[in-house]
Amino acid sequence: MPRFLSSLVQWIDSDYSAVSPEAIRGQPDGVNFVRCIPFIVLHLGCLGVIWTGGSWVAVWLAVALYIMRMFAVTGIFHRYFSHKTYSTSRFGQFMLALWTGTTVQRGALWWAYHHRHHHQHSDEPEDAHSPHVHGFLWSHIGWITSKRNFPTDYSKVKDLAKYPELVWLNRFDIVVPVVFAASLFLLGRYLETAAPGLGTSGAQLLVWGFFISTTVLFHGTASINSFTHLWGNRRFNTTDDSRNSFILALITLGEGWHNNHHRYQAATRNGFYWWEIDPTYYGLKLLSYTGFIWGLKPVPQSIYDEAALTAHHDTIHRFSVSSVQHEINTLRRVVPTAAAIAIATVQSTEVAEQLQTKDRPALNKDVAEQAENPLA
Ligand SMILES: [Zn+2]
Ligand SMILES: [Zn+2]
Repeated sequence: MPRFLSSLVQWIDSDYSAVSPEAIRGQPDGVNFVRCIPFIVLHLGCLGVIWTGGSWVAVWLAVALYIMRMFAVTGIFHRYFSHKTYSTSRFGQFMLALWTGTTVQRGALWWAYHHRHHHQHSDEPEDAHSPHVHGFLWSHIGWITSKRNFPTDYSKVKDLAKYPELVWLNRFDIVVPVVFAASLFLLGRYLETAAPGLGTSGAQLLVWGFFISTTVLFHGTASINSFTHLWGNRRFNTTDDSRNSFILALITLGEGWHNNHHRYQAATRNGFYWWEIDPTYYGLKLLSYTGFIWGLKPVPQSIYDEAALTAHHDTIHRFSVSSVQHEINTLRRVVPTAAAIAIATVQSTEVAEQLQTKDRPALNKDVAEQAENPLA
């Protein structure tokens, strides 16, 4: 089958391939435009707002779906399928996988495979999305357009590949997004007639709830691959360049504490302290009270000890740097003053000496005269 038709079939069946996934993985990076058309359509769909306009219900739906689906990305794709930081039943796992399908970020096994690979090779040449190796744009968006990153390597996610229902959702990863988009359209059509006062329509909810919300969701997620290996602070001295960022934690519901996560991946929480905001963890904690999920994994004490030790060393370093700086600043103020005093003193001594030189003969004379003629 020609490559063009093969790419079209892959829109529906992402496991279809004339060559083995290993052979595809072995190819150099290169953009597959035909395969990327759905991704381009997703972005272009946002322009539909020119024709549909907006309404409060459409905007709030887009925001709510962003939050609920970012939770799917961080709490399910990442903290469940990639790292197994908590447990659930087989039915629960299937429901979680169904919900991740609405994010339009392909299947759970593809996602987990790539993410585990990232942890194994972070910021090394093999890392598919390192901004240090491939540049910012490639780490943010380029890597998912590359033909060598399309297949799922099931041998690297054997713990997930043993569930045929997960493999089916992964293989036909277009099904859930299509059903999701159609549901939004039908909801809009229903509201159009049932509640005309809301001023919405099927096309409007499709544009806001699906195209705009999903596109923003994609870039929020992608910022973890690009920005969190460039911006922020490093608490732990990991072998990669992962960083902690409060702003990125807000955008991604807690994934911004990426340096914490790279140091210890098995914990359910990425914000290791109460002041490190981690809404995904709060959501998972609430979900655990219902019994739907359980066995959330904590951050071990040894990691907190390591963090405290690093903070201690940082404080000492900052203190020594600041005290040295303070001394330098003091010297900068003191030295010119001291020099001025010294110069002034030397000058006044010279003046005094000159005066003394001038006066000395007279004095000596007086003293000599007094000695010679004490009665004078
Ligand atoms: Zn990373
Ligand atoms: Zn991870």
